[in-house]
Amino acid sequence: MAQLNSKIPKGSISEKWTNHKNNIRLVSPANKRQIDVIVVGTGLAGGSAAATLAELGYNVKAFCFQDSPRRAHSIAAQGGINAAKNYQGDGDSIYRLFYDTVKGGDYRSREANVYRLAEVSANIIDQCVAQGVPFARDYGGLLDNRSFGGVLVSRTFYAKGQTGQQLLLGAYSAMNRQIARGKIKMFNRHEMMDIVKVNGKARGIITRNLINGKIERHSAHAVVIASGGYGNLFYLSTNAMGSNVSASWKIHKKGAFFANPCFTQIHPTCIPVSGDHQSKLTLMSESLRNDGRIWVPKSKKDANDIREGRLKPTDLSEDKRDYYLERRYPAFGNLVPRDVASRAAKERCDAGYGVNKTGEAVYLDFASAIIRYGKEKAHLKGLDENNINIVKELGKEVIKSKYGNLFQMYEKIVDQNPYETPMMIYPAVHYTMGGVWVDYNLMTTIPGCFAIGEANFSDHGANRLGASALMQGLADGYFVLPYTIGDYLADDIRTGPISTKSQEFDEAEKIVKEKIKVLISNKGSKSVDYFHKKLGKIIWNKCGMSRNEKGLKDAIKEIQSLRKDFNPKPTKKSSFSSLACLRQFRTSFK
Ligand SMILES: Cc1cc2nc3c(=O)[nH]c(=O)nc-3n(C[C@H](O)[C@H](O)[C@H](O)COP(=O)(O)OP(=O)(O)OC[C@H]3O[C@@H](n4cnc5c(N)ncnc54)[C@H](O)[C@@H]3O)c2cc1C
Repeated sequence: MAQLNSKIPKGSISEKWTNHKNNIRLVSPANKRQIDVIVVGTGLAGGSAAATLAELGYNVKAFCFQDSPRRAHSIAAQGGINAAKNYQGDGDSIYRLFYDTVKGGDYRSREANVYRLAEVSANIIDQCVAQGVPFARDYGGLLDNRSFGGVLVSRTFYAKGQTGQQLLLGAYSAMNRQIARGKIKMFNRHEMMDIVKVNGKARGIITRNLINGKIERHSAHAVVIASGGYGNLFYLSTNAMGSNVSASWKIHKKGAFFANPCFTQIHPTCIPVSGDHQSKLTLMSESLRNDGRIWVPKSKKDANDIREGRLKPTDLSEDKRDYYLERRYPAFGNLVPRDVASRAAKERCDAGYGVNKTGEAVYLDFASAIIRYGKEKAHLKGLDENNINIVKELGKEVIKSKYGNLFQMYEKIVDQNPYETPMMIYPAVHYTMGGVWVDYNLMTTIPGCFAIGEANFSDHGANRLGASALMQGLADGYFVLPYTIGDYLADDIRTGPISTKSQEFDEAEKIVKEKIKVLISNKGSKSVDYFHKKLGKIIWNKCGMSRNEKGLKDAIKEIQSLRKDFNPKPTKKSSFSSLACLRQFRTSFK
């Protein structure tokens, strides 16, 4: 049985990272030029890591399956990124961010990592501002913050509802500088198919060029996996459909341990499922819970009338509405942690109070925020605060300036105007805290193979908070890995270039080619989506928001029977020569 060693440095929690950095082995600038590093994935984690490693002097090869690093799934992040800057003067500190994150992770986080994360969080904001990331600013021109669920301070930095996009453009421009210098070789439209180990160490990858199908070999002294999370396992999620977990899975099959795969964050504010034709769900950012009030009708009859179209939500007077989060959790109200809000919505819908056709939706209502902001604006402008039309118009303007793009997105998808009628929302799979196990240096159980960003099992335990994934991805890429990888690479300064003409590369390439052949020529009668959808339904129903022993056991049986249904057989034409290969192929689906 392998022993896991997290290699957490000794000393008090607030000094661990500083002491570690002071004692870690370094690679000199001249030696860095002799060392190659592969980075798989160029989202916020991989992009920031590739740019920083190249800036330090390493030769970086970066890979993504999209046509540009700008299209990584990170671009979808809406709400914001946490940092312990205490710009609001509301009592925030490194310790409070650490404490909230550990508590938000249900006390299952690795505390040394979380403390380090809180420490470097402030640097991330400075770094991104220096890159020109247009974070929202307040009236006086200073960086603004908003609140996110589960905490009592405002520490979330944001760029409207497009924070991920702006941060990714920052990382992408940093990468581009290095691409222009020749320090990063960028391989767009390349999918990593396997990792290559030489003498037990990660020494390269096999990729498939997605334009022409060519299988290629790439070697390096270390391989960094930054390939994102596994939320798409559930089929319907807020992830892009392309966000697959194949890279993490490949390294797992080659010896990288996985940790906490049961920890998936379910986001309470997503556009509800409308039917069986959907391939993804759309997030409505958590920031909306700053101003939106969540409710369902108090009576089942009203809920039923709304579902059947006999009643409109706006027809229901205040006393007939149940603002159930405000009622149950007066201290946090609508800003309870994500898991609490999600479970509460499910509980109300399961009890028969759901408001859309499927009965799986609750309202997120901005009417009172519109009036509140409108009155304030009217007062500021010296206009009549009691004129409801003026107040509503002014209030809508404020809401538009804060969440305009989200409201527009909602209207395009649902065909209802959320300024006039409450949004409908329901929880959906959003972000995965489990992933590839890493030690304090972010190295997996394969020597020389590192995992960063959502791909690793992260610092967050069973995280129920928002705005912490972006923080972790950028902390890993800009501020942690660039130090810790040196400790490993210090042994490689005399190794010289790693050849791809070796038995290990031959074998890895052969197996990849055989697998592709089987998939392409197996003459199956069902599509990839057929299996994905079925698997997703099993996982959502049995391993989703609520789980129990019976459900989990049933899920195992159902997955086994689905696997039987998908049973790739070599065709006559296929040169699937060795039985060993076939066995390996089948186990890769287990
Ligand atoms: C809709 C949405 C909104 C969100 N909003 C927020 C928010 O407001 N705040 C917050 O903190 N978090 C948010 N999150 C979570 C956060 O966006 C993600 O956790 C984070 O962006 C993941 O970044 P990453 O770099 O680890 O992975 P990704 O951005 O997913 O990048 C993965 C990269 O790996 C590449 N890749 C994957 N597999 C392979 C392969 N086999 N071969 C080659 N390349 C491969 C891809 O091409 C891509 O470049 C949100 C998530 C979603 C879904």
